[in-house]
Amino acid sequence: MYAIVLPETIKVGGFDYPILINDEVDRALEDNRWRGEHSDLWRYIKILSRLDPQSFSATFIHEVLHAINSVYLDLDLKEYQIAAISNGFHQVLEQLGVRFIKRKVNSRTITVLSKKSYVN
Ligand SMILES: [Zn+2]
Repeated sequence: MYAIVLPETIKVGGFDYPILINDEVDRALEDNRWRGEHSDLWRYIKILSRLDPQSFSATFIHEVLHAINSVYLDLDLKEYQIAAISNGFHQVLEQLGVRFIKRKVNSRTITVLSKKSYVN
């Protein structure tokens, strides 16, 4: 499994998008029963940290697609279309052994893990 550690910020269309993952974010997302959030106005992505690894990775892909929809498509894609495309990408990336994971202090950008690492 190729585990790609999410950086603190990504760029979408030349804009910095902070990827916010912390306890405060978790509380707000759980209050809304959301796994993640994208802000069109403030240009940030939030992801629930306590998700299982597959759901965490899928949520990141989903929220990035919302950001792409905001920057490049003037929000033309509807929620069901974003869900379909992001789930499709998630499936292909999982099959290829690529997964996005949350960062830890002093983490490297890319970490190669054996499949056994995820069984624990
Ligand atoms: Zn969505």
